[in-house]
Amino acid sequence: MKYISTRGDAPVLDFEEVLLTGLAVDGGLYVPETLPTFTPDEIADMAALDYPQLAHRIIAPFVGDCVPEEDLRAILQDTYAEFRHDAVAPMVQIAPNQWVLELFHGPTLAFKDFALQLLGRLLDYVLERKHQKVVIMGATSGDTGSAAIEGCKRCSNIDIFILHPHGRVSDVQRRQMTTVVGDNIHNLAVQGNFDDCQAMVKASFANRAFLPADRSLVAVNSINWARIMAQIVYYFYAAVALGAPARPVAFSVPTGNFGDIFAGYLARQMGLPVERLIIATNSNDVLHRIMTSATYCRQSLEHTLSPSMDITVSSNFERLLFDLYDRDGAAVADLMRQFDQGDISFSDAAMERARALFGSRRVTDEETCGQIASTWQQCEYLLDPHSAIGVRAALESRLSPEVPVITLATAHPAKFPQAIKSAGLDQEVALPLHLRDLFEREERLEVLPNDLAAVQAFMAANINA
Ligand SMILES: *Cc1c(COP(=O)(O)O)cnc(C)c1O
Repeated sequence: MKYISTRGDAPVLDFEEVLLTGLAVDGGLYVPETLPTFTPDEIADMAALDYPQLAHRIIAPFVGDCVPEEDLRAILQDTYAEFRHDAVAPMVQIAPNQWVLELFHGPTLAFKDFALQLLGRLLDYVLERKHQKVVIMGATSGDTGSAAIEGCKRCSNIDIFILHPHGRVSDVQRRQMTTVVGDNIHNLAVQGNFDDCQAMVKASFANRAFLPADRSLVAVNSINWARIMAQIVYYFYAAVALGAPARPVAFSVPTGNFGDIFAGYLARQMGLPVERLIIATNSNDVLHRIMTSATYCRQSLEHTLSPSMDITVSSNFERLLFDLYDRDGAAVADLMRQFDQGDISFSDAAMERARALFGSRRVTDEETCGQIASTWQQCEYLLDPHSAIGVRAALESRLSPEVPVITLATAHPAKFPQAIKSAGLDQEVALPLHLRDLFEREERLEVLPNDLAAVQAFMAANINA
């Protein structure tokens, strides 16, 4: 399998190379040159597979001969054994033809574990073979940091440095990062805001001179192709459980960066009968505005009850754009250059294609709380605020009530107790057993000034030999 850039002017890479790369050198994102497809019979056969087996069937064509079959099977078994539910991604019915796909049974209670548990293992496998060590650097406002740290904690070939804004992430989220034990794990609490942290990561990728010559820098945000790849699996898993390929399904996906829902789009391109993909956003509704007005424009950031979707630019949308513009890299490069200067508009043809598959809905904090409360009243099922946005969008944007709609539940409600309170529900939401003692565990973090040179000096001095 070969990977090409959405801007058409970067080297073609194989899987191993794309795993170790962030942005393409032309500023684009990597996508597969061609997609594997499955016939209806092959999809029907998937019903007999458990989650790791299905993951192997979906992922193997993307990995190609970069990882031998038996090794890939072992990596996938190990990855999903880490989840605390035998079904890995169980489904719960909340109303007639309405389902919730629980993607929060991984170690950090958010769907990001599906991809980052795998990414850490794949990186370590490839690095071991190449006798190479790397440095991971990332900024987080919450879920990505803890999932990346959990995914890399046993990787002897990786030093991971995660920057978070000091005093500005929730106690649960901070402790999920700072209580993980490992010499290769470095939590940096920067005396600035999230944008400051992100700017430092960007500057470090642009100039890596502060690192020893033999260490390259690897990205773990959702521009990394391997993250998208891992997420395709649960779309197949859920649809087949509800009767695909004989029965089409719809998905509603709480999204900000377009990473998770893009995986659903790929599942459909690979042969899964997906009737509709619903983009569910909070008030940071850049994607909803694209769908309704055909323009891509930045607005100021709002802090909402669903912080993991608080973004102003949706970087993975570029991957869809590439297809909407007939995979014309020069056209995408042109559009994105204009976007650096200001707002851009998309062609009628592109929007027509997008709207044929995607619906969209913006959900306010008030509606989010209303949905948490009403789902609780109807069936005593507790939604986290991100998942509640998905359920609300599913109710209002589905095309036909005969087609089952599956909402991706992206986080466990215990991660966001504030939203449960705001919804007027007074039950305590207990953390799952493996995290019950989270508030008794010892924290390890380094508080650093909001200064690039200080952060880079700390990193250089703390990389393991
Ligand atoms: C990261 C995250 C999202 C958004 O994911 P995208 O990649 O932007 O689609 C939604 N919900 C939760 C809980 C998250 O952590």
